[in-house]
Amino acid sequence: MIRYTLVGSGTVVPDGDRGPAAHHFACGDLQLLCDLGSGTVRRLAALGLPWHALDLVAVTHRHQDHVADLLPLLFALRHTPGIDRVRPLTLLGYGGFARDLETLSGVYGGWVLDPGFPLEVREAADTPIELERGEPWIEIEAHPVVHSPEAVGYRLTLSDAEEREVVVAYTGDTEESAAAIGLARDADLLIAECSMADEDRVAGHLTPGGVGRIARAADVRRIVATHLYPSALALGAREIERRIGELCPVPVDIGADGLTLDL
Ligand SMILES: [Zn+2]
Ligand SMILES: [Zn+2]
Repeated sequence: MIRYTLVGSGTVVPDGDRGPAAHHFACGDLQLLCDLGSGTVRRLAALGLPWHALDLVAVTHRHQDHVADLLPLLFALRHTPGIDRVRPLTLLGYGGFARDLETLSGVYGGWVLDPGFPLEVREAADTPIELERGEPWIEIEAHPVVHSPEAVGYRLTLSDAEEREVVVAYTGDTEESAAAIGLARDADLLIAECSMADEDRVAGHLTPGGVGRIARAADVRRIVATHLYPSALALGAREIERRIGELCPVPVDIGADGLTLDL
């Protein structure tokens, strides 16, 4: 079983229906989370996802709509009654992530790096790394993208007990670029940020047209458009889908919190 759940389809903009970036993957009993903007831990609990049993948390960049719930997650794992975690947790981030955690540990206390169970901190340069428990395994590789200087996207290969392999590319935040095409190359699923309408394009982010061009050049098989600012939302789901589909005629889902796909 390989299941993707879109936990947060929104952005930095406060929105009652959309949390900031967060994406959950279950592969057998391996649990992986990519990005965790504010409120993600609560959203995971609300969706019935095992926030206390994550094996790997990968962060794309320093922006708060992608990383703000990292310390709340570690604090909840340490202090929630009844959670006596022994299973190790891998934290994966951009270049400089380990130093950031050391700084935060200096401010908030030693629990940040010593939460009471084994914590492994890895950075983009250490990838690809593989997680394995019996048959299911996940490999994750960081690819630099064009956004903030440290920003990366992640390319996942997930293999279940039937040895089916599914490749997922998650852009994090990125501009339209050769790097984004390389990240998405031949993916079964492209999870693409789709921040703005094409007529409001801003540097460092994608539009429906940009998502469609990347998806076509990379020859992906399915698309989820997420990280929707009001500018993109104002187009309406049908128009976003039309603009992407015109360029790359594969199935497109417009992100909504709680969207679940069996891959
Ligand atoms: Zn960003
Ligand atoms: Zn963002």
